Amino acid sequence: MKTQEQIEQWVRPNIRRLKPYSSARNEFSGEASVWLDANESPFNEPYNRYPDPLQWAVKHRLAKQRGVCPDQIFLGVGSDEAIDLLYRIFCEPGKSNAIAFTPTYGMYRVCADINGVEYREVPLQADFSLPVEALLRVADRESRLLFLCSPNNPTGNAFPEADIERLLTDFDGIVVIDEAYIDFSSHPSWLARLNEFPNLVVLQTFSKAWGSAGVRLGMAFASPLLIGYYNKVKYPYNISGPVQRYALDLLDRADEVCRWVEETLAERSRFVERLSTLPLVRRVYPSEANFVLVRVEDATALYNWLVEVGIVVRNRSSVTLCDDCLRITIGKADEMDSLWEALCRYN
Ligand code: PMP
Repeated sequence: MKTQEQIEQWVRPNIRRLKPYSSARNEFSGEASVWLDANESPFNEPYNRYPDPLQWAVKHRLAKQRGVCPDQIFLGVGSDEAIDLLYRIFCEPGKSNAIAFTPTYGMYRVCADINGVEYREVPLQADFSLPVEALLRVADRESRLLFLCSPNNPTGNAFPEADIERLLTDFDGIVVIDEAYIDFSSHPSWLARLNEFPNLVVLQTFSKAWGSAGVRLGMAFASPLLIGYYNKVKYPYNISGPVQRYALDLLDRADEVCRWVEETLAERSRFVERLSTLPLVRRVYPSEANFVLVRVEDATALYNWLVEVGIVVRNRSSVTLCDDCLRITIGKADEMDSLWEALCRYN
């Protein structure tokens, strides 16, 4: 078990010393009827006012829904912001390194590059299982972050609890489990075990199952100590007032979201079943997400042909272990029917 002191040691020295920035809305939080403290306009309600910098209303609602405490939550402009800020908190440019397997979500590397941090990658095993020992072998004293996307983009599989637990225990740094696709998975979320691991960060997002990619809202769940560092390095008003109000409303529509997920899962099964009957399909990888990875005879030729008939999928041919693979998002029934008709014509 890692201690709070160890986590503190991994924080960049300048960030450890940093005092949180104090904005007008932070300094006074009591009741008042006249607000003349933040150089806001008195016109154009409600957009004229700065939003709550720590988004307490949303966090309380979210905490109740996901079984955590409000001070275990950071809200970001997509989970992409939560990924980037982890580098800001823990990594020193030119010194620290981050580790991930490949293939996986591209932003882990992009954020490493932006922050001047060495990025070490280890290929997944041929059956897409987790290379636990190899990940531990590439780690050294300067390794601060280990990214585990589960269910993984683009392979679609989720990793066994025992493998992840081993990494949480034996990796001397922060383990980030990216659960962007968890609502489509049969695996339980790691949120239930958040309190057991002070070095665990769980990422989730409103962009997938919650149908709100355009809104840009993601979250990181971690110990209050680690969330305290997020609050120190984030922009004071990173989540706008309209987005906070939108989130409160959306969280009340959880039943509707469940129906969307069920429809997507039903569509995924129907599509996978149909796909495996097509001669051009070599392999349909099992999926725990709202997409499927499909190996075909010539992925680039098929990709180009689909574009010609107005259907865009993702060509992943150039990615490690994904030669001749397309990643296909599960849409509504009529969209999947259009794709299916096109595939039959191509054959
Ligand atoms: N993690 C994974 C695994 C993703 O696939 C994506 C988006 N494709 C994200 C995070 C980013 O999500 P957001 O829209 O919340 O930034």
